[in-house]
Amino acid sequence: MHTDNDAYCRALAFIRRPHALLIDGSWQVAQAGASLETFDPSSGEPIGRIACADASDVDMAVGAARNAFAGWRATKPNLRRDLLLSIADAIDAHAEELAYIEAIEAGKIFAKVRAVEVPNASSMFRYYAGWCDKIHGTTHRSSAPGDKLAFVLREPVGVVAQILPWNFPLGMAAMKLAPGLAAGCVSVLKPAEETSLSALRLGELMLGAGLPAGVVNIVTGRGGETGAALVAHPGIDKVAFTGSTATGRAIIAAAGPNLTRMSLELGGKAPNIVCADADLDEVVPASTYGQFFNGGQNCLAVSRMLVHASRHDEMVERLAAAAADFRVGGWDDAQADMGPLVSARQLDRVMDYVRIGREEGAAVVTGGERMARPGFFMAPTVLAGCTDDMRVVREEIFGPVVAIQTFSDTDEAIERVNGHQYGLSGAVWTQNLSLAQRFIQELRLGTVSINAPMAGDRDLPLGGFRQSGWGRENGVEGLSLYLEAKTVVMTSL
Ligand code: NAD
Repeated sequence: MHTDNDAYCRALAFIRRPHALLIDGSWQVAQAGASLETFDPSSGEPIGRIACADASDVDMAVGAARNAFAGWRATKPNLRRDLLLSIADAIDAHAEELAYIEAIEAGKIFAKVRAVEVPNASSMFRYYAGWCDKIHGTTHRSSAPGDKLAFVLREPVGVVAQILPWNFPLGMAAMKLAPGLAAGCVSVLKPAEETSLSALRLGELMLGAGLPAGVVNIVTGRGGETGAALVAHPGIDKVAFTGSTATGRAIIAAAGPNLTRMSLELGGKAPNIVCADADLDEVVPASTYGQFFNGGQNCLAVSRMLVHASRHDEMVERLAAAAADFRVGGWDDAQADMGPLVSARQLDRVMDYVRIGREEGAAVVTGGERMARPGFFMAPTVLAGCTDDMRVVREEIFGPVVAIQTFSDTDEAIERVNGHQYGLSGAVWTQNLSLAQRFIQELRLGTVSINAPMAGDRDLPLGGFRQSGWGRENGVEGLSLYLEAKTVVMTSL
């Protein structure tokens, strides 16, 4: 079906060729010559190799970024805007090819990546292009003695290390690069080792669109080596990270001594609160999608369902039926609702949680098995009879597993949600406006959605309370992460 498609052939040729590091506007081999394999999760087979940058490669990339900073921060806002728009156009012009690369390497459904994720990436560049010439400071009348004029300038933070996870590789690259570039920052980007290829292709497209040398550098490799060297580098002014809470802590420990600025988008365990009056005809399909979309490898996945006790049995039965119907397929299955997990390691990790859930007393109502086919496939899984002390409730599983629990009154539900280590997002289903208001005001979550599962929105802040991280990405808050305030006070002569 795809073999006579030009974009598919270009994507395959790109995947298979040797890959280098983007440093100072050119593609350079890793100095130690190390590389690692990358896989097609739909077949489980290796498909290519990426370079493994070590500390000396990272040092060169940071140096190149630092050299480029003065020029990029001085670039007129309208020129920065035009460049971001050109990058967006280049993504759109290569959308099909990028979608193949992303779908094959990340185990995503090609049709969905082409229809949604690639257009989201270009629209992220367009959105922040719009901010380039609207980054304003403020002026103030000082109350201090004397006749002073005070104003505040908004200046780029400097050289930023941007570390990506593997669940939305292209989208996350756009989400980090676009606001940084708009603010006048320069980047060293480190994609996840499982999914580096779409970022490398994006790097080529950005150079083709006219990005000056050194403004974006891309280093690939393992987290513990390439990532660790990057975040500890004293030449980094800010780290922007999305990934696990454990790695977030390691980054704080490594970058803390340099007092490097940090934004961290870490784990989530989004509660999906189904009140007694909820319309299950809406809740069931939306929650099935909200949990199992992208194989549940989504920090916003509604993976902890809190159902009012009066609706529990009906909910379990209907959600289990919907999960069993959720179609699982390889990247080229246009009818599939979700693909495989990203790696054998992630599949093992998720299957381990199913085992732990069983041992803790949860009932596997549907799924709970690897699928009998090549690749890293697992059936959508519903665990019932879960309680707050179970690890399948306390921890982020990041796979197609939902844990169902009950609650009996509103205060109890709010307390239990606010007592969880994660506070990224959550959903509430009710027809009662007063009840909805109560949840909105009292839930300590970065995002609360009413009668809808949460989906990321480029224009709206994304981030969480408690161990879900520091700072907010997307929207104008995402831009602010890349800006410093400089106060100027002028005395009249
Ligand atoms: P991870 O946090 O280890 O990896 C994310 C990124 O951090 C990768 O680019 C990796 O190379 C890099 N990294 C790893 N160690 C590093 C270090 N010491 N210094 C600097 N960078 C480092 O995630 P993982 O092990 O691939 O996944 C484990 C779990 O993390 C998942 O099961 C899931 O629960 C969670 N996760 C969350 C998100 C999210 O969007 N919040 C994304 C991916 C993974």
